[in-house]
Formats: sequence, C-alpha cells, structure tokens
Amino acid sequence: MKIGIVGAGSAGLFAASELGKSGIPDLEIKVFDQGPPVDKRYCAISEGLACMGCDPCKIMSGIGGAGAFSSGILNLDENIGGDLAQLCNNAGLDAKQIIGHIEAFFLQNGAPDKLFNPFQNEQKLKDLLFRAASMDIRFVPIKQRLLGTENTPNVIKSIQKTLESDYDVKFFPNTKVQRFDANKQLYFGNKEKTDSQEKFDAILLAPGRWGMVWLSKQCEELGIRTSYLPLDIGVRVEVPSIILEEICENIQRDPKFHIITPTYNDFVRTFCVNHKGYVVKEMYEEKIVGVNGHQFTSDGDSRNSNFAFLIRQALTAPLEDTTEYGRAIAKQASVLGGYKPLIQTLGDLRKGHRSRPALISKNPVQPTLNDVTPGDIAMAYPYRFVKDILEGLERLDHIIPGVNNDSTLLYAPEFKRSAKLVQVSPFLESKRFKKIFFAGDGAGLSRGIVGAAVTGIIAAQGILRRIYK
Ligand SMILES: Cc1cc2nc3c(=O)[nH]c(=O)nc-3n(C[C@H](O)[C@H](O)[C@H](O)COP(=O)(O)OP(=O)(O)OC[C@H]3O[C@@H](n4cnc5c(N)ncnc54)[C@H](O)[C@@H]3O)c2cc1C
Repeated sequence: MKIGIVGAGSAGLFAASELGKSGIPDLEIKVFDQGPPVDKRYCAISEGLACMGCDPCKIMSGIGGAGAFSSGILNLDENIGGDLAQLCNNAGLDAKQIIGHIEAFFLQNGAPDKLFNPFQNEQKLKDLLFRAASMDIRFVPIKQRLLGTENTPNVIKSIQKTLESDYDVKFFPNTKVQRFDANKQLYFGNKEKTDSQEKFDAILLAPGRWGMVWLSKQCEELGIRTSYLPLDIGVRVEVPSIILEEICENIQRDPKFHIITPTYNDFVRTFCVNHKGYVVKEMYEEKIVGVNGHQFTSDGDSRNSNFAFLIRQALTAPLEDTTEYGRAIAKQASVLGGYKPLIQTLGDLRKGHRSRPALISKNPVQPTLNDVTPGDIAMAYPYRFVKDILEGLERLDHIIPGVNNDSTLLYAPEFKRSAKLVQVSPFLESKRFKKIFFAGDGAGLSRGIVGAAVTGIIAAQGILRRIYK
C-alpha cells in the first residue's frame, strides 16, 4: 500500500505520523516537498540583527513548510486556525482529543514545557473578559505554546527524524510535484532528475500557501471544484512591549481580540502577536512585499511588541476573486513604498499626513524593521479599510491602553493570502475522485500550524478507512 503526500508542512507531517502510527504492515509513505521559495529563507543577519547561530537553509533542508519560518505559536483550541471543531465533527472525530495528540507530539519533539494558559489565573481572565465585553469586543481565551523562531527548525528536524525512524517515512526534499492525475499518479522532479513519476494507492495534497495557486490550477484541470475564501488584510501594529506586557505575560501570549467596526460592520481581529518580537519584511512575488512578525525566543528579546490587525473581507460574484483583490492592494502599497513596506505613525494616518523619515527617527516608538519607506497607507488602501483600522484601534485602546497612541507604528501591506477552498467529503477526500485527499492551508481547510495538523490527521484517517474498506 503506497501513500504519496505532497507537502512536508504541518498538515503533511501530521498525516504521515497518523498513517505511520496505524501500524499497517507494508505501508509505504512518501513525502515530497519542493522547499521554501528562496526569499523565505529567513536569516536574522539579513534583517540587520545579530546572527542566531543557525543556518535555516542547512538545518531544514526543505522540510517543515511555512511553520518552519515562524515563531511557532501553537494555538491549542478547536476554534482557532480553521473550523476545526466542525471539520472533526463532520468526520465523527473528537477535536479536543486530536489537538491533545498534536500537542503531545510537539512536546516529544522539543517544544518548550511552558504552557500559556489563560484559565490558570481565573480572576485576571475574568477581568479581561469583562473589560472586553463592556467595549463590545470578543476576547477568545485559548491555551498556547510558543516554539520561538530560534527553536522551531530543531523541533521540525526532530519530527522528521521520528517519522523516519519510527515509521520509515521517506522524505523527498527539494522535489517539486509538477502535477497529479485522477489515477493518483504523481509527476515530480528535482535538480538531479526532472521528470519522475509514481503511482500511489492514495495521495494527499497538502502544499500550503506556497502551493495554493498550483493546487487550484490542478483542481481546475481535473474538474475538482473550488471556491474563494475571504481575504485577510490590514496592518502590522508595533508598540512598546510594556503596553502588551500585562496581557501577554499574565493572561495569553497571543491574545485574540475580535471587533466589529461601527461604520462598516467589518470583522477586525488581532492576529500573530509577537510580544518582544520583531517586524520582518517578506517578498511574496516579484515586486510585491509584505510584513510579518517574529519572535526569536519564547521569552522575546526586543523592546517592542507587534501584531497583525486584520480585516476579513469576502467578495461576491461577479468579483469574488479575493486573491486577486488582495494582490492588487498589496501591489499598490508595494509600488508606493518603492518595493519596501510602508511605515506610518498612527497619528499621521489619523491626521491625513504622510510620515517622513525625520518624524520616524524621533518617534517615541522606534521600528524594529528598518528596510521600510515612511509614507501614507491611506494612499494604498481603500477608505473602508483605513476607517476599519482607525476605529478598531480606537476601541482596542480601552482594553490595551496606549495602542491607539499617535506614536504607534503601522506597517503595510500586511495580508494573508487566502487559498481557494477545495470541495471535499467529511474525510477531506475529493468529492470527484476517490483516494485523492486534501489538507492544510493550501486547500483552504486551515489557517495555522495546529489547524493544518488537525486536517492532516483527518485526511490520514480517511485514507486508513479507504485501506480497510
Ligand atoms: C511568517 C509566518 C509566520 C507564521 N506564524 C504562525 C504561528 O506562529 N502560528 C501558527 O499557527 N501559524 C503561523 N503561520 C501559519 C502557518 O505557518 C501555516 O498555517 C501552516 O504552516 C500551514 O501548514 P500546511 O501544512 O498547510 O502548509 P505549509 O506549512 O506551507 O507546508 C506546505 C509545504 O508544501 C510544499 N509544496 C507546495 N507546493 C508543492 C509542490 N507542488 N510539490 C512539492 N511540495 C510543495 C511547500 O514547499 C511547503 O513546504 C505563519 C506563517 C508565516 C508565513
């Protein structure tokens, strides 16, 4: 019985583990990964920071997916990172139990023992919930663990070794799958051999966001239905770390606040909070830049904290292409920034001023990312999104005093490209072709490391059911 997995990110790795654990004799599991796009190879030195003493390119050898380049915040909750409770329920599985197994596997492979648990301090959590509710804000308390950017590659390396030694999983790094067909044949190649192919009994497509465009084209060619998902777009907000200290250190490491803005009724949320972390520049494709956040160690070592402040925007026919819409806005921001991210103080955005280098240099909050262009985000973003950002931060200030200060720094574009949602059965199998399964962010099924892992496990359970049938 041969299973081919495309993508060695969180979804692919946890699917391989679930299949391996089944103990089915003669089960051959092969995992193909093309490796990260070259510009994702994160290096502290390239950001003007001290060398972290590691070489991600060497350590990771192309395994680990986008999570390998992240701070590794593990959101241990079925309501975060996708509709995990619903997905598990559809398949008759217990989301809490699956997330528990995922957490245990991370711990076995070097995740720090420290658990950020908002439920530990009942009074503080109650106070925060009250303050949030009284301002019409929803706070979502969840348990979290933090791998830290520095440690994440080692955890992934350990997971890879465990899968190889315990379950004989075979990895094919730096190998791109060019296409798959309805007969579960994978066509792939690498530097040494560009045109190999192999037929499998079942295949799992988990190519993440780096492979989402490829996946949706493949689905289109095979007549597998997909649909657009809402776009997440906004800014990365940077404040002195002391402003977030009370919440991040005493209640929740990556606090999730959900706001409905008064003017447009838009859904805005905090996402990917890097307490004592750094803002980093990303390059999505030629001439489209973006920003993200990192935290090198689980305690953090910067004087600032940052978080994404994202508006969720769905579109309807005839303009439902959220990918292209997000791309167009990001491109506009990139052009205005001279292909560097834009930076602006919140005070300037509010007053309708462009930020200038002289002002940024004497701003009380100094940026942790310097490869930026001071400018005017209002020239790049639609009015509606600017209004959402201003109104959202104003409201959040009642919970996190200081976040709405004039000196707060905003970086743009910050957007999360959304994959197209592949139409699948409860076990994430193609509705059109049997034994072709999908998992992870690239198929629009998850949004996060743990979420992707959950979908990998559901798909693996689906594959096992097919084997037994
Ligand atoms: C900078 C950054 C920070 C983040 N921080 C966090 C965080 O702290 N916490 C969190 O929960 N989430 C975070 N995320 C999101 C998280 O990384 C993803 O949600 C998660 O990695 C998705 O897992 P996946 O398995 O679906 O895809 P991925 O992890 O992206 O893995 C997919 C893999 O498939 C490979 N692939 C694609 N196409 C092909 C092909 N044709 N042939 C072969 N291989 C292919 C890719 O190279 C990739 O390695 C972050 C993301 C980024 C970019």
